[in-house]
Amino acid sequence: VRAFSDLISRGRLAHAYLFSGPDGIGKSLFAGELARALLCTDRPAGRLEACDHCPSCRLMEAGNHPDFFAFRRPEDKVEFPVELALELCQSLALKPARGNHKIVILEDADDLNEESSNTLLKTLEEPPPGSLLIVIVTAPERLLPTIVSRCQVVRFHPLPARTVEAILEQHEVGETAQRPRLARMSGGSPGRALELADPALWKFRTTLLEGLASPRPDTVDLSRQWTEFLDETGKDAATQRGRASLIVGMLIDFFHDALRLGVGGTPTLTEPTDERLLRQFSERVDVDRCLKILERCFDAHFHIDRRVQLVLAVEALVHALTDGDAGGMTARKLN
Ligand SMILES: [Zn+2]
Repeated sequence: VRAFSDLISRGRLAHAYLFSGPDGIGKSLFAGELARALLCTDRPAGRLEACDHCPSCRLMEAGNHPDFFAFRRPEDKVEFPVELALELCQSLALKPARGNHKIVILEDADDLNEESSNTLLKTLEEPPPGSLLIVIVTAPERLLPTIVSRCQVVRFHPLPARTVEAILEQHEVGETAQRPRLARMSGGSPGRALELADPALWKFRTTLLEGLASPRPDTVDLSRQWTEFLDETGKDAATQRGRASLIVGMLIDFFHDALRLGVGGTPTLTEPTDERLLRQFSERVDVDRCLKILERCFDAHFHIDRRVQLVLAVEALVHALTDGDAGGMTARKLN
């Protein structure tokens, strides 16, 4: 906020910014507030804050300010379509209707394809006067280097665990005892911490771990349950992916602890109530196998993030988590 206040007061605002950083740490929130403040016609002197009552602020509140546009990938699309990129560039090229600024926020820039990237690039090469484009991305390395080089990059860093805990408390989310754990698992992202607090997620985690720790894990049944759990969140692919990714993160924690236990260490990441499951699991799975399982979890994380078909990613992972066990058991029996 201070850096932008300073830029604005010196009249040095650039035409394009790239806000980069993990999901759920406030990039969009900040971009939206910045747009509101810039368009506000009654902004308190020296402060980067919208007044909330001028006609411009009221238009923003109602979602129909003529100088503000937000674009995101449509829910049913895997990539950001070129038609939408064209529309974005046209919106930015219009003369400001009310003040001096025309502001466009581009969400989901991770999903730009080659065509839409090139369309965007043309606008970035010759930004229309008075225009401000804010591009929001989680992995800037997926963007064309020419896009990155034409934007001022602003990096959003993960927040300290204590701040994430405070945000959970503000939102009255999670039990007091559970908050430090949610904050740790969120990797500094309050958005992720809020998602992780969903009791349904923890319930499913138990179902899954019970299944995996059982003497004969049922691959087909566990895959089905996992897919059904994802379907419960609705049809939006991004939400389903987010949920799948949170579950994989929970599994990674669990297997880390199983590994610790396997080499004679003390579990540190899972709850004391998980102890029974951990012991049951480590009895059945040796250290080598546990390492392999962890590796497969990291692969799954990567694939889910890279939009491999979700059902396939889940099935492959469950198969990797359960298969080989049969062989292991036979070997043990033979011994
Ligand atoms: Zn205002």
